Amino acid sequence: MAQTKDFSAAWPILRQIESRDLFGLEATAASSRTRELEARTKKADRVVGSICPYCAVGCGQLVYVQDERIMNVEGDPASPISHGSLCPKGAATFQLVTAKHRPRQVLYRRPYGTEWETLPLEQAMDMLAQRVKKTRDQNWEDETHRTMAMAHLGGATLDNEENYLLKKLFTALGIVQIENQARI
Ligand code: SF4
Repeated sequence: MAQTKDFSAAWPILRQIESRDLFGLEATAASSRTRELEARTKKADRVVGSICPYCAVGCGQLVYVQDERIMNVEGDPASPISHGSLCPKGAATFQLVTAKHRPRQVLYRRPYGTEWETLPLEQAMDMLAQRVKKTRDQNWEDETHRTMAMAHLGGATLDNEENYLLKKLFTALGIVQIENQARI
């Protein structure tokens, strides 16, 4: 008898007939294999709420973390903006952190240069700081406490916290044109 039961359990059509689920849309559609499956996000140690950095819509995201590394990013159903959905760009946010083809070195093209060259990060940061200081010193407006010689345009992959710090820094430097690609 147990053998007959195992046999009918193994065949979806028999399960359908047995449970009168003629269209196979209910529990009979599931196999023992599919019943064993579970979302890999269940293995996450914690889930952190965030916001998609790519555009001004600001869809809510859930960032799943395992062993202190991001293992998945999904839409946040509790977001009043997006109700759990993400567009293809937002759904690919995971690759922002993990994609192997992302450049991981500073690329620099000299004035009149035709090729990119790699620079150590320290050297690039020093070059930036020197140029910002020089431009600001040469173009400072005492009456208005500002400089109109520089602007800042952030990239869409900057996150909320980075944008917050950038806005603070550049406003403190007296720069007034501060924008982000996500708002353009
Ligand atoms: S890029 Fe897509 S997922 Fe991200 S905030 Fe904009 S609409 Fe939402």
